[in-house]
Amino acid sequence: MLKKIKFNNSLPDRHGHFGPFGGKYVPETLMSALDELERVYRKAKQDPKFTKEFRYYLEYFAGRPTRLTEAKRLAKLIGVKRFFLKREDLLHTGSHKINNTLGQILLTTRMNKKRVIAETGAGQHGVATATVCALFGVKCDVYMGEEDVQRQKLNVFRMKLLGARVISVRTGSQTLKDAVNEAIRDWVTNVRDTHYIIGSVIGPHPYPMIVRDFQSIIGKETKKDLKKMGVREPDYIVACVGGGSNSIGLFYPFLSSQAKIIGVEAAGRGLHSGHHAATLTAGQVGILHGSKSWVLQDENGQVSLAHSISAGLDYPGVGPEHAYLKTSGRVQYVSATDNEALRGLKTLSECEGIIPALEPAHAIGYLLKNKARFKKSDIVVMCLSGRGDKDVEQVSEALSL
Ligand SMILES: *Cc1c(COP(=O)(O)O)cnc(C)c1O
Repeated sequence: MLKKIKFNNSLPDRHGHFGPFGGKYVPETLMSALDELERVYRKAKQDPKFTKEFRYYLEYFAGRPTRLTEAKRLAKLIGVKRFFLKREDLLHTGSHKINNTLGQILLTTRMNKKRVIAETGAGQHGVATATVCALFGVKCDVYMGEEDVQRQKLNVFRMKLLGARVISVRTGSQTLKDAVNEAIRDWVTNVRDTHYIIGSVIGPHPYPMIVRDFQSIIGKETKKDLKKMGVREPDYIVACVGGGSNSIGLFYPFLSSQAKIIGVEAAGRGLHSGHHAATLTAGQVGILHGSKSWVLQDENGQVSLAHSISAGLDYPGVGPEHAYLKTSGRVQYVSATDNEALRGLKTLSECEGIIPALEPAHAIGYLLKNKARFKKSDIVVMCLSGRGDKDVEQVSEALSL
């Protein structure tokens, strides 16, 4: 058992640690690239020109700020006073992933790198990366597990239309974790002219910090909008957790508030079925893809296969900052099964006219199942990380409507 650690929101430290988590567990050849990325990022962060350019693309290309929509019928159903949805589903390419890829493509040009690689599971990060590469005229190769290539044909085609090359990975379980392994291998070989755009708050330092900072626009806008609407500080902040980027984006600006914060992981066919992706709920401390965090692994330390109905949550790791927020007790991590997510998707569609992606549908599924924990006076804010278009085929099979 890990000792409870004191909560501190000025992390990571100089070495990229969030308490005992994070760090850089990478081959020597990547150390200088990570150092360069950190140096260029810290400089860009202080540079008003960078901030202005980033804001410009977020606004005029991606469509920010996104709206905070009040979901009145859902509030009634769950039994709370007010319920707000942060509408990342309205962004260009359909999810919050574009916030991070826009930030990182600007860093790519600042590092004078001519080629970008990325990994993708459901294909949302691959599409967002292919999109910004087209926008900036940068060569783009996306690694994707063969299983996912088969499951997500529409997104594979979108990436190709955008001019990217999709490299199918046939090693291991042929899913996201294997795509990350191949992308890291490529990066080791081509690090001089290639930047690796990681799609979540995972990987070695400085990625978890950079991706969090780019995504924290979600929480900043939410805070500002609530104030403008005259709404008091929320009682609950909720988001789904895969690698953890949309959730940390919403949570980060609220960490020092009084709000209770809940992260919802994918429980797949159930926590005891062995087929799930609930890393923080049912995993252990371990090292995966360059950082120390929680990992789904067997008794020999072998990384387990994750399962979730939503390919975007189907990952056996989670960002190191979430491991820290769990251990420090600041955020509570819970889970929702495939079926609960399907119910969440159907409910939001019917009662608010918004078809969510399967990932945030997990958060809705959790809230519906656990209504009893909320009070009539509660104000809840949830991140609607993406739209459901990409999932309709799979959902139609599962629901047989
Ligand atoms: C990729 C994705 C997620 C999961 O990734 P995080 O890094 O945990 O945010 C969640 N929702 C949508 C819509 C996604 O595309």
